[in-house]
Amino acid sequence: MSNIVAIVGRPNVGKSTLFNRLSGTRKAIVNETAGVTRDRNYGKSEWNGVEFSIIDTGGYATNSEDIFEEEIRKQVMIAIEEADSILFVLDVQHGITDLDTAVAGILRRTKKKVYLVANKADNSDLIFAANEFYSIGMNGQVFPISSVNGSGTGDLLDAVVADFDIKPNDDDENLPRIAFVGRPNVGKSSTVNALVGIDRNIVTDVAGTTRDSIHTRFQKFGHDFIMVDTAGVRKKPKVHEDLEFYSVMRSIRTIESADVCVLILDATRGIEAQDLSILDIIINNRKGVVIMINKWDLVDKETNTMKEFEEEIRNRIAPFRDVPIIFTSALTKQRLIQVLESALEVYENRIRKIPTSELNNVMQKAIAALNPPALKGKFIKIKYVTQLPTFAPTFAFYCNLPQYIKDPYKRYLENQIRKNWSFTGVPMQIFVRKK
Ligand code: GDP
Ligand code: GDP
Repeated sequence: MSNIVAIVGRPNVGKSTLFNRLSGTRKAIVNETAGVTRDRNYGKSEWNGVEFSIIDTGGYATNSEDIFEEEIRKQVMIAIEEADSILFVLDVQHGITDLDTAVAGILRRTKKKVYLVANKADNSDLIFAANEFYSIGMNGQVFPISSVNGSGTGDLLDAVVADFDIKPNDDDENLPRIAFVGRPNVGKSSTVNALVGIDRNIVTDVAGTTRDSIHTRFQKFGHDFIMVDTAGVRKKPKVHEDLEFYSVMRSIRTIESADVCVLILDATRGIEAQDLSILDIIINNRKGVVIMINKWDLVDKETNTMKEFEEEIRNRIAPFRDVPIIFTSALTKQRLIQVLESALEVYENRIRKIPTSELNNVMQKAIAALNPPALKGKFIKIKYVTQLPTFAPTFAFYCNLPQYIKDPYKRYLENQIRKNWSFTGVPMQIFVRKK
């Protein structure tokens, strides 16, 4: 099912450099309209055809010199709880420090797979020096790597991927899976509880419940669906409550096992970087999304309050604006049913398949109305388009010079698809291929 790999270690050993290399991310995405740098501590990666999630724990800690050992300790504990595999990064150029020893002490107690990564082994002398790390008292092999030049990362990934538990999903029911996600205190538990109690026809039935997820089965509107929810949603782990990082970490597995995620925001706080991080995880996993602005009962309203609020949210989530936004109160149950209906629509949108002939009829007109801009005197001709048979909407456009089609034109194509068919709430991929 899901495989979550966490990178841990003290500051400056090269965790984020390794994260960037493994996730293929180069730099933080800056949303200019909003002036917010989105955290890029979460990535989706693939090795030998196996997908996994990768998390850089360090980025959520303060970057100051006097970083508390306590902060690192907390993050390592969370990584142990939430991840399947842990990359424990050390710096060969610096050797073993007291903080490294402290981290090793925590990791020694876990049953999860821990990989000892000797980073900054940029040359053969340093690769040899990595043997020093066998003395830190962890079981298993030391993997000398260089995050900067990439050497050794292949062997490391071979080992990590080979150890994955590739058990299929435990409940095989082919029903829409809906999850409620969001920061602490936005109203996740209140919403789930309000829904569970909202109608006596709802059948709550625990199927495929595992240590860390509860699957509740619902019957409503002639639909059967499953509400996916981590144990943490209802049962609050008090120790971590203060840690925003924890809520993001906690969301990952839930998001991965859902088809549609309802991202809950707190109307009294608006949308913040943490919310955008969770949204990024949803988009990276290509899951459907509904945005629920909760605690709407607490907001002083004037004529345009809702419209303005909605507009602000759309600007912040740009370019992926085509998302349902619903204003709710879990307290008064206002519009909670609408949230569910909307989530089911998004589910339908996510599995929508457009017949190739219909797609080409419409899109050829859209392309004729605005041809891709010619580049270096070359005329770019898109010959046809087809929707690929993937689980989430992906469109391939075939053309003579694919490398000349840039992002703005791809966005035009995506917008045209969205204008003609309903893909609301669903991230979309556009590929351009040579033909
Ligand atoms: P983090 O605090 O653990 O996330 O560490 P960073 O990824 O920010 O890296 C700390 C410093 O080490 C940066 O200056 C990196 O460029 C450098 N660094 C990271 N990986 C390597 C490596 O493989 N070789 C060398 N020579 N430097 C590295
Ligand atoms: P969670 O941490 O996301 O599960 O949030 P909770 O469901 O525990 O809610 C946090 C707090 O917000 C609790 O005190 C709730 O009673 C309150 N709350 C949740 N939803 C609403 C709402 O729609 N309106 C108001 N006024 N309070 C709410």
